[in-house]
Amino acid sequence: MTDQFRASLQQLTDQSLRRSLFPLESATGPIVNHAGRAVILLSSNDYLGLSTHPQVIQAAIEATERYGTGAGASRLVSGTLPPHAALENALAKFKGAEASLVFGAGYLVNIGVIPNLIGRGDLIFADRLCHASLIDGCRLSQADFRVFRHGDCAHLEALLRRRASNRRTLIITEGLFSMDGDVAPLADLVELAERYDAMLYVDDAHGTGIMGATGRGTIEHFGLERRIPFHMGTLSKALGSYGAYVVGSNEFVQYLLNRARSFIFTTALPPAIAAAASAAITIIEREPDRRDRLWANRQYLFDGLKKQGFRLTPTVSPILPVLIGDAAHASAFADRLLAHGVYAPAIRPPTVPDGTSRIRFTVTAAHTTEQLDEALQAVMLAGRETALL
Ligand SMILES: *Cc1c(COP(=O)(O)O)cnc(C)c1O
Repeated sequence: MTDQFRASLQQLTDQSLRRSLFPLESATGPIVNHAGRAVILLSSNDYLGLSTHPQVIQAAIEATERYGTGAGASRLVSGTLPPHAALENALAKFKGAEASLVFGAGYLVNIGVIPNLIGRGDLIFADRLCHASLIDGCRLSQADFRVFRHGDCAHLEALLRRRASNRRTLIITEGLFSMDGDVAPLADLVELAERYDAMLYVDDAHGTGIMGATGRGTIEHFGLERRIPFHMGTLSKALGSYGAYVVGSNEFVQYLLNRARSFIFTTALPPAIAAAASAAITIIEREPDRRDRLWANRQYLFDGLKKQGFRLTPTVSPILPVLIGDAAHASAFADRLLAHGVYAPAIRPPTVPDGTSRIRFTVTAAHTTEQLDEALQAVMLAGRETALL
């Protein structure tokens, strides 16, 4: 048994695919302490810096004092606490939907919802770059599963045309893609879904809180609120908390709370976490300047990386992936970056396709220009030392 574990780990090491944890001695934020020194963190999805916002923290403290640390059981077993109900109301309102249902994590939404949209004998078309949790949801559904080329509606349409038209079909995409930072061609996808009588499932984990004029997400960015009847997003990225949600009609939410196994058979979010997420939504609505700072920082880092000559994905967001190629090279680059005081790990297969290993920089509203200048200096040095520049 232990031989099996050791062999597997050795194989990962040999392929430069071994992962390890990065211990911090501080809160997460633009600067973190690691191994006794301060490091600029350029890999967090806490895009608006809300995980350390005083009002978010205060909401979590107050909820803990009133309701305790744990929810006790599934909400169907031990009851829905006021912070859960308040969060679902806030999310429905924020998204302009009838209702919402909060799950323990985005992973749990995707593996719980997809098998209740589609099943054995049906058909799924998913963008090639869809997140692992979406893929696992597809597998659990037992529907036939095909991928279309990333963002390629012509390819998707060719696949839709070729199917037997009576087969129930689900199209799956991310709104803002987590590892490439580009957006899905949502308007065209909606059009295809309508024309070919397919359902569309949008995972807006990364778009929520940052995309669109008021931070409501990628669907707001494209003005498609009326044409996408339900979608999911997470509370764990720009909202600085944990957990995830679906929004849609009352019936859809009632259906899921009766059917989605990853809602029914897991313990509810701790009340503090639900209260923190509600507070984050309030701040997103009340402090639009945070989003302005995020986008200004994004442009600054993007321009700096481009000027140095790095090759980036076609990103339009605060996710700024520098493409490197093979995993060993990407890991070496990440090691040199850390030596120069910047932490952004190498993203390698199976998170991204073979040959597209990268450093996925993310910038937040909380970074200062001085920190970004320092980071750019470190990136340049690391690039030269690994012969990328
Ligand atoms: C992070 C992420 C998830 C999973 O969300 P968690 O709440 O972290 O489980 C799902 N989909 C996408 C696209 C993600 O980036």
